[in-house]
Amino acid sequence: MNDQQRAGDPAVVIVGAGFAGLGMAIQLKRAGVEGFVVLEKADEVGGTWRDNRYPGCACDVQSHLYSYSFEPNPAWSRMFAEQQEIWDYLKHCAEKYRITPHIRFGTELVGAEYDDATGTWRVRTNRGAITTRALVLATGPLHQPAYPDIPGIDRFRGKAFHSAEWDHGYDLAGKRVAVIGTGASAIQFVPRIAPRVDRLHLFQRTPPWILPKPDRSISPLEQRLFRAVPALQRLYRSAIYWTLEARILGFTVHPRLMKLAEAVARQHLRRQVPDPELRRKLTPDYTIGCKRILISNDYYPALTRPNVELVTDGIAEIREHAVVTRDGVERPVDAIIYGTGFHVIDAFDHLDIVGRDGLKLREAWSGGVEAYLGVTVAGFPNLFFLLGPNSGLGHSSMVFMIEAQVRYVLQALRPLLRGDARAVDVRADVQATFNQRLQARLREAVWGIGGCRSWYLDENGVNRALWPGSTAEYWLRTRRLKPAEYRIEA
Ligand code: NAP
Repeated sequence: MNDQQRAGDPAVVIVGAGFAGLGMAIQLKRAGVEGFVVLEKADEVGGTWRDNRYPGCACDVQSHLYSYSFEPNPAWSRMFAEQQEIWDYLKHCAEKYRITPHIRFGTELVGAEYDDATGTWRVRTNRGAITTRALVLATGPLHQPAYPDIPGIDRFRGKAFHSAEWDHGYDLAGKRVAVIGTGASAIQFVPRIAPRVDRLHLFQRTPPWILPKPDRSISPLEQRLFRAVPALQRLYRSAIYWTLEARILGFTVHPRLMKLAEAVARQHLRRQVPDPELRRKLTPDYTIGCKRILISNDYYPALTRPNVELVTDGIAEIREHAVVTRDGVERPVDAIIYGTGFHVIDAFDHLDIVGRDGLKLREAWSGGVEAYLGVTVAGFPNLFFLLGPNSGLGHSSMVFMIEAQVRYVLQALRPLLRGDARAVDVRADVQATFNQRLQARLREAVWGIGGCRSWYLDENGVNRALWPGSTAEYWLRTRRLKPAEYRIEA
């Protein structure tokens, strides 16, 4: 602890107890740091894996890779575990590494101000303020449900909810249901609800590219083997890692390489959807990879059911008991389920974060959301983002990125925690050069030139979400924090 802080103040405040926040907390603990608290708006850990409980919710990255490297789970029951199993894994990690006593549940961040005189952050929450040396924002990019801007949306008198706020108390059996959106979430829950509902009208704006899902259960014998021979599990994880990593070549080196993946996706569609008209509606007109590539074996078959209608006419308005498309057709429904995604690029807009010299984060980002390595922002000393701008992925495990960032943040925290430094602030020129190069690379990649519009892009078409290279490159670049890139105040 540093002398500018009062005894009892935590040295580090982490916001969010999902994969990122817990990962940060665990590594602090392993480094012998006890003076930290984790603020969590909900009453349980788990982040996105606590919030998203829609039927069929599962990870589309293999669980042996989508888990902490230091906490392998030999007991994963499937290649792609479902939500409950991933959530249980996170709860297990919080308990095993004794993070739970550090967590203040029901505590939501409202804002934070940096005090230059003391090199501390005053963190405001719904339950009062905390002063801390360092603030780690591990709030995740995918937790604020986004509702579409459709006229009449508030007039609807039936049941309506977002996929991330699923109402399990509402029985969909025998109901006429509209689903809006065909992204990663919708393609997982549509096959689960289709057999139960009376009618399902699926409103699609842009068809996604879908590849077969190489899922299977993991046998008890394999689980025993992984438990008995941890090296085997590590090898398995590496094999998955490098298989996924190879995909980045198609995304960035030459999007034309994606033609191969496109051929596989087209064949998948042909095999699963015999009706040429339905197939036509489901065939994307942009390069595969431009939007997140989805994987599913049961989505297309669900759409061939007689009680399911794929609607591709745009939605004109929502009425008290119906959804009306631009061609004037009114479809009466009992319920609307929004699979319309999350606020990503504007995820921090509601927070009042004020850095050095009264600089507001919103102002610093008025020309576009950016950071250095997705972690630090000039003018905001001792503030660290986990999964911040341009550190997302379209091809591999976000947990890998989180672990790289946590390792990097720990290096920045070390002098602060030892009392050797009171402020660590990335240099503005370093951040600017980094982002110029990053954007130059992104302009050549499939997300920019693939002919689609996605949540990766801001209102000016600039990609603010994704890391442009391999995760191996990111790992290398975050392995050692270079002090010369920072203003470090003793
Ligand atoms: P999403 O990918 O953003 O998809 C939203 C869907 O809603 C899109 O089909 C979009 O159409 C549609 N939509 C949005 N506004 C609309 C409007 N006004 N009218 C009609 N349609 C509209 O959201 P998501 O499916 O919840 O997934 C979000 C992210 O969460 C994913 O990309 C992924 O990173 C993550 N996720 C991961 C997993 C996993 O297995 N790991 C599972 C679920 C989600 P357009 O395409 O035309 O914009």
